[in-house]
Amino acid sequence: MNGMEIIQIPVLSDNYVHLIRDSATGTTAAVDPAVAQPVLSVLNERDWGLDYVLCTHHHHDHVGGNADLKMVTRCQVVGAAADAERIPGLDIGLRHGDGFPLGQLGATVIEVPGHTVGHIAFWFPEAEALFCGDTLFGLGCGRLFEGTPAQMWASLLRLRALPDTAQVFCAHEYTEANAAFARRVDPRNRDLKARAEEVSAARRAGRSTVPVPLGVEKRCNPFLRADQPALQAALGMGGLDPVRVFADLRRRKDVF
Ligand code: ZN
Ligand code: FE
Repeated sequence: MNGMEIIQIPVLSDNYVHLIRDSATGTTAAVDPAVAQPVLSVLNERDWGLDYVLCTHHHHDHVGGNADLKMVTRCQVVGAAADAERIPGLDIGLRHGDGFPLGQLGATVIEVPGHTVGHIAFWFPEAEALFCGDTLFGLGCGRLFEGTPAQMWASLLRLRALPDTAQVFCAHEYTEANAAFARRVDPRNRDLKARAEEVSAARRAGRSTVPVPLGVEKRCNPFLRADQPALQAALGMGGLDPVRVFADLRRRKDVF
């Protein structure tokens, strides 16, 4: 990652907290700290301070560590202005298109409602790193707890517009389970077959599948492909409104 050091910390059963640091200035942030202690341990080992907590959304497995991290490190909590009352300790509220500087690395905020209505993603163009919480997962997407299919589809299109070379740092290790569903609905996609095999091999070897390259997701993730003729044909939904196709996929995945 250009100018950015990233440490992935696995916590709880399948969450990832990402510790990110601007190499030039040493400015450091924890993205979606579900819990504080594992983050503090890594900071201690490296003798790093913590400047910010970046929150993608209000769910407890993303903000559970906010209060303790703030108390111990005096960091500032950054998140969606729209969700100010639900993000513990929020200091800096951001909206769609706002910039946020992590030292010399700039992030742009992308609002991605769907999983929750106040969900945001942080895009660091120089580092080509996207932190998208529970919006986009490897071969899947977040459940619609608060938003509509139309909102989530529009959010996924915003993420799909980023370059293929972007690395997607999702907040959960769900890729292998998602691959089973993806292959069920898109059985003739050869890129997907190859990707699913790669993912299974990585998991057997105990490796993380995150970050996932966005270019691979664009070719393999059915939730990013609801408007693609090949996938629509595989679903028997050729020519239909992508929102309808997306909604159908999401409903089927909920009960898979
Ligand atoms: Zn969530
Ligand atoms: Fe989550």
